[in-house]
Amino acid sequence: MQPTNTKNPQYYHKVVDCQWGCPAHTDVPAYIRHIAQGEFTEAYMVNRESNVFPGILGRVCDRPCEPACRRVRVEEEPVAICRLKRVAGDLKGDIHDLLPPIPEKKNGKKIAIVGGGCASLTVANDLLPIGYEVDIFESLPVMGGLIRSNIPKFRLPPEVIDEEFNVIVEQGANLHLNHPINSMKDLLQESYDAFFIGTGAPKGRELDLPGRYDTDQIHIGISWLESVAFEHIESIGKKVLIIGGGNTAMDCCRTSLRLGADNVKVMYRGTRDRMKSSDWELEPALEENVELILNHSPD
Ligand code: SF4
Repeated sequence: MQPTNTKNPQYYHKVVDCQWGCPAHTDVPAYIRHIAQGEFTEAYMVNRESNVFPGILGRVCDRPCEPACRRVRVEEEPVAICRLKRVAGDLKGDIHDLLPPIPEKKNGKKIAIVGGGCASLTVANDLLPIGYEVDIFESLPVMGGLIRSNIPKFRLPPEVIDEEFNVIVEQGANLHLNHPINSMKDLLQESYDAFFIGTGAPKGRELDLPGRYDTDQIHIGISWLESVAFEHIESIGKKVLIIGGGNTAMDCCRTSLRLGADNVKVMYRGTRDRMKSSDWELEPALEENVELILNHSPD
């Protein structure tokens, strides 16, 4: 048997279950140790090495690290890894001097980035310190992509998005807002060395049932959330039925309550344990008196 090679980072990933469970392999023990010492800025920067938006993730990450947490072997609940990330984000000091320096002499390569959301800004964050020039094209007047348009403000305040995105833009990304890319063919003919398409998948799924188009009272979840985010919709009726049991459904029902609904039900075709929503998304909805209609599907 080979001796354990502790110089191989994979070793730590495998023995630190939460770090292995995190898709970005964030060094969870290190940042929690910093928080325990009151070193919030350091904790934030440890996070930022793996995921560029700790303040955002500390509010909305789906936290696959927590079910992996070993604490559940001795206690009922895991360490609140995600919320601790938010603590670091909220209490950190100024991080500008801790960011990698941006070289004045560029490397001569220019990258076009389509879309102004998390993926695109992460690409910019990684390329700017190694001398690339980046142009970011966003069709909307604001950055943020789906996290701005689809996550309700009461879960993710716009200021948190602005702060973490602006840090990257201030490092020298050329940001072109209100600039939709309507032709990839035209863009490809421009003088860029590479292109990154970070437009996400911003379309909800239709439910093509009889009568679907006979009324304007039926909305598609993520389009409706986007209309609320950009203040095109400011109210809804008193009785609301949400069809589907994922996290978008939870955002829709909690948003409906805030827009004036007083009777909100979620209809799901299976049992509660098969619902796709995470516990931490479902439970706040139940606490706000959203009713579940299980084992039902519209037909
Ligand atoms: S909260 Fe999310 S980003 Fe943070 S360690 Fe867990 S899975 Fe990774």
